[in-house]
Amino acid sequence: MSREELAPLTLACAKCGTCRTVCTLYPERKAEISVARGKVALVDAAISGLDGNAEALQEALSDCLLCGRCERACPNQVRVEEIIMKGRADLAEEMGIPAWKQVVFGRVMPSAAAKNAARTAAASAQKLFLRKVPTGSGLHYRFPEKFGWEGRTVPALPGTSFLGSLAHGEAVRGEVILFVGCVFDHVFPQVGRAAYETLRRSGKKISVFRDAACCGLPALVSGDKASALRCVEENIGRLSAASPERIVFPCGSCLLMFRRNVLSFLPKGHPLYGQAVRVADLCEDYASFLLETGVVSRLPDPPKGEKAGRIGYHDPCHLSGTLGKGGEGREVLRRAVGDSFAEMKGADLCCGYGGTFNIRDYPTSARIGQNKVSVAAEGGTAVIATACSGCILQMRDMAARTDPSLRVVHLAELVFQAISHR
Ligand code: SF4
Ligand code: SF4
Repeated sequence: MSREELAPLTLACAKCGTCRTVCTLYPERKAEISVARGKVALVDAAISGLDGNAEALQEALSDCLLCGRCERACPNQVRVEEIIMKGRADLAEEMGIPAWKQVVFGRVMPSAAAKNAARTAAASAQKLFLRKVPTGSGLHYRFPEKFGWEGRTVPALPGTSFLGSLAHGEAVRGEVILFVGCVFDHVFPQVGRAAYETLRRSGKKISVFRDAACCGLPALVSGDKASALRCVEENIGRLSAASPERIVFPCGSCLLMFRRNVLSFLPKGHPLYGQAVRVADLCEDYASFLLETGVVSRLPDPPKGEKAGRIGYHDPCHLSGTLGKGGEGREVLRRAVGDSFAEMKGADLCCGYGGTFNIRDYPTSARIGQNKVSVAAEGGTAVIATACSGCILQMRDMAARTDPSLRVVHLAELVFQAISHR
């Protein structure tokens, strides 16, 4: 492992244990190795040459949701996520990356054409191999038990992506760029559409970033730095050349990648570093853009008392926690739905998705997620609104398992509804 990069980061840990009191995973594992202090100590031992068990270290670093709760609570500002991601990347370099990950991260995610082909193939496979389960939050397919995913449900994939639904020449040029993200383009195109239509109410010319590569976060958190770099190179060069006034993200995790993670893993001397810094400054979350440009203040008055207190806001860890943008989402929601909004019980509990953690250990991810949606439903929430693609995927799956009447939507869908139906 790279001692030079990691030593200054691990040195900051005072072993105080505050991180254990907030760790999402600790109540599940009840082990020191699952919390930030344990992981930082293991990395420290490895770079000091005291522990050479790379496999055990890889296992420990993979067992983390990267929710960032430890980092936010840490009195010494230890950059836990950076330590874990750098550690994962160093170990992947040493031990190799599984073939399926190399294909998905290295070939599919950087290419818009490959993503389209993958969605089409996956949509056909769903119809052939999975069972349909209509739920309150939309049609899902359920995996058979033999997959070892304990009844996981996934959304029915659409025939056409959001980008594919745009008319020829539509949203090609504009001072503001919408970076829709893979999930809101290929899995929930209605979210991409709602985000686009509501951004247009700002009076600015909106262009949709076409042929976008994935933001690169899934590859980066898996330790596949080369594939993450390919995605970043594809995106940063073209975004920079377009010289937009703003780049708006409906997904908090894609935004975090552009605003923070890209800069922490691009080497300083990399030719794209300067451009990446300038692009990061232009990136903004969906709710802030709507507030700043007056879209929200111009919304028609919401109806009174329809479903008072039934719509809540879920805080995505990356967006509300790390980027501190929870207030903006609530302000937009309050204006869009009026007194139907009420603070949700357990709003800041992690949904348990954690990107690749959900694939690596689905039973644990599902226990954390089921607790999240149960707490919300018991508190009287009937609709959960949020602004992160991973959280929506996870909470829809959890709602299908726990309470099929619970709806999980993107904030933009409710704003679009408010604009269209009043
Ligand atoms: S809270 Fe911070 S300083 Fe304290 S043990 Fe955890 S990582 Fe180390
Ligand atoms: S990122 Fe989340 S799951 Fe990982 S160690 Fe920190 S608090 Fe625990």
